[in-house]
Amino acid sequence: MKRIRVVDLLKTPDFIGTDVVVKGWVRTRRGNKHVQFVQLSDGSTIKNIQIVFDMAKFSDEELKPVTTGSAICVEGRLVESQGKGQTCEVQADTLTVYGTADPEAYPLQKKGHTLEFLREIAHLRPRTNTFGAVLRVRSTLAFAIHKFFNERGFQYLHTPLITASDCEGAGAMFQVTTLDLNNLPKTDDGKVDYTQDFFGKTTALTVSGQLEGELGATALGQIYTFGPTFRAENSNTPRHLSEFWMIEPEMAFYDITDNMDLAEEFVKYCINYALDHSMDDIKFLADMYDKDLIDRLRFVVDNDFVRLSYGEGVKILEVSGKKFEFPVHWGTDLQSEHERYLVEEHFKKPVILTDYPKEIKAFYMKQNEDGKTVRAMDVLFPHIGEIIGGSEREENYDKLLARIEELNIPMKDMWWYLDTRRFGTVPHSGFGLGFERLVLFVTGMTNIRDVIPFPRTPGKAEF
Ligand code: ATP
Ligand code: MN
Repeated sequence: MKRIRVVDLLKTPDFIGTDVVVKGWVRTRRGNKHVQFVQLSDGSTIKNIQIVFDMAKFSDEELKPVTTGSAICVEGRLVESQGKGQTCEVQADTLTVYGTADPEAYPLQKKGHTLEFLREIAHLRPRTNTFGAVLRVRSTLAFAIHKFFNERGFQYLHTPLITASDCEGAGAMFQVTTLDLNNLPKTDDGKVDYTQDFFGKTTALTVSGQLEGELGATALGQIYTFGPTFRAENSNTPRHLSEFWMIEPEMAFYDITDNMDLAEEFVKYCINYALDHSMDDIKFLADMYDKDLIDRLRFVVDNDFVRLSYGEGVKILEVSGKKFEFPVHWGTDLQSEHERYLVEEHFKKPVILTDYPKEIKAFYMKQNEDGKTVRAMDVLFPHIGEIIGGSEREENYDKLLARIEELNIPMKDMWWYLDTRRFGTVPHSGFGLGFERLVLFVTGMTNIRDVIPFPRTPGKAEF
């Protein structure tokens, strides 16, 4: 007989009254000498299927290895359930134990572990309800992202993870080398001789696929990337990972307003998709961790984002009378506390801030007429702060080059990027969404380490 997944079993009334095979991991077992109840999970849904063992048919010995965490296969009749909390249950006829889980040793034997403790056993935490729910929501969101862009004619562009340009400007990089660190080849002046390294030059893991994304957009029209990025900053915050996934659409012929429209439509689409397709998991997370979660998600989907300039935002912060840890005035980079004040206390809505001072933004952003600001846009979300950073790009060759020289960015690294402005340059725009920040928002989790299966943070890369 063919195995049926729990998610299908629970939503297909036709299975009731038939013989079925279910396979999964035991969550709990309880009962008495006449009857034993097992809650079985196969990971396909937050819901368990209840298995009922009539102890007239099974011996205590047979059921003994059926403990929390063990893996079993059960054949039996699916019937409507008498008990509350489930619609149907399996009356077991046969039992096969695939793998036991010694109750003395299995770390998830008991319920109610803290998220901090579960981070220490990240190799097993997907077996908990919380991480099952988070990982399914994450997967749903990843699919929604591809669907959104596919429906709008965007091409999925794969940008390299190993890069030779150390000037992407988005953060500290992890070097990639095959040189023997205990025996480095040296040049005459005592420096490391990277011509002997694997690529013949220094290379690193990418911090962003954007520059290559622009090459794609100025050929294919509109592209998006969706891949891992790496940042070596030693920032131990609940919103930063050393390895995270980023979605970076890049569009020819889009100005900053088109860019904002797309960003807003995009995040709303993803949140809506999760509400439509992952409601069981979202409900579970809302009940467990965050009663306001579903209202907050619906609120973001149903309301226009506020759009205002950085300058206007700073004025609001200055007159707010609020004591911030970091003082704020025109020219300072906004901290999460400032972003969250605007979103959570002042506007009570997501905010798109534009026209930032050029000094605090990357070299490739389009310069405004005022000579002071650039056409940047950051999308700020409740509970998160910055979720998206983007801009219209400087398409003028001379202006871009002037900025590169002003900032002393080594030109030898940038010639291929400048070619987009030398040959058939066009106005274009794009942005980057940090995938885990979106997953944080949709799941209501508060620490970014809890929304990626295997988090990498300073000092942590075991599993
Ligand atoms: P922040 O100011 O929050 O550190 P950033 O301005 O350095 O972010 P960008 O370079 O604009 O970030 O990257 C685009 C998006 O990627 C951000 O809006 C954010 O959602 C996400 N992001 C950036 N750094 C990280 C990180 N270390 N971990 C997870 N997501 C990140
Ligand atoms: Mn940013």
